Amino acid sequence: MHAPAPVLAFENVRHAYRDKIALRGVSLDVRAGEIVALLGPSGCGKSTLLRVAAGLERQSAGRISIAGRTVADARAFVTPEKRGVGLVFQDYALFPHLDVAANVAFGLARPAGETARATTTQMLRRVGLAARAHDYPHMLSGGEQQRVALARALAPQPAVLLLDEPFSNLDQGLRRDMRNQTMALLKESGAAAVLVTHDPDDAMAVADRIALMRDGLIVQMGAPADIYDRPVDPFVLRFFSEVETLPATVAHGEATTPIGRFPARGCADGAAQACVRKTAFSIARDGALPASVRAVRFLGERQAARIEIAGLKSVLEIALPARETIRPGTTLSLAVDPAGVFVFPAAASLHEERARP
Ligand code: ADP
Ligand code: MG
Repeated sequence: MHAPAPVLAFENVRHAYRDKIALRGVSLDVRAGEIVALLGPSGCGKSTLLRVAAGLERQSAGRISIAGRTVADARAFVTPEKRGVGLVFQDYALFPHLDVAANVAFGLARPAGETARATTTQMLRRVGLAARAHDYPHMLSGGEQQRVALARALAPQPAVLLLDEPFSNLDQGLRRDMRNQTMALLKESGAAAVLVTHDPDDAMAVADRIALMRDGLIVQMGAPADIYDRPVDPFVLRFFSEVETLPATVAHGEATTPIGRFPARGCADGAAQACVRKTAFSIARDGALPASVRAVRFLGERQAARIEIAGLKSVLEIALPARETIRPGTTLSLAVDPAGVFVFPAAASLHEERARP
């Protein structure tokens, strides 16, 4: 069986703004009905990749194709309105002088015929805004504006939908709702969707696959659980969880660290680093790791404990369930979940420091 052909394909795409390099060679395929999250810190090139896909910017090198047709390479350039791409921007970019219905109808046939009107009504119903059709954007909340922007982008049934930080202007509770609604609408539309975000929770919640970017390149790509469980380097690991880094020594595929021994497949013998999720620790009667508690901070569902352990000069911060009673000055017996410990070559951290903007 063949994998379905990609609807949106980037092949070795590079881009520079004058002398500022923003993309260093990005290749990525997105299939129909798939949501790919482009995740990464500010300035890593996420918006640039969306802008070249939409045709708002012409890449310096490489090829972009949509539904099997080259839309931009060294020779061809298809203008944005001819690419069949829907766009949702961070600020929603609604037309302030048009009401909700006219905003949604904007990308449809004009003058608006019966079909366009029916599509608009149907889209507004799908985003739960049928009753607001004749309100103007300034009369809507942030979440409602986001839904109008989404309805407008989806109304022409684009093969590709590009969303740039669509949730970042929403507060936490609303953000969770909008994430779920957006995901449902994207899935229903069957479009190939690329969603840009700097928030790992957004990416985890919404994406079928995450492409984690750093400094103009995709560092790792995979299903959320793949990336979370098998980060290729400390940068990827730290993007999704808080970690403490400990010195380690590797011999015969095993790392010896101040908190125990852990598998270290693929690591050369010698000095290494063990990155430990703060949540990898638990209090256990038969725990192998004694720790003296220096300080405790309440965080809601969890509490942060600053601990000292034998063989380590610095204080470690770990996260424990809030229900445990922990007092400064006492000694805990801890267990460490090996699934939360990642051993990397010592040089990886040097590489990562260099790669940071
Ligand atoms: P992100 O969306 O991941 O925050 P961008 O794609 O916006 O990143 O930017 C990538 C890099 O390109 C950044 O260093 C940014 O400063 C630079 N950049 C973006 N747009 C322009 C522009 N119009 N002119 C010059 N440099 C730009
Ligand atoms: Mg951006």
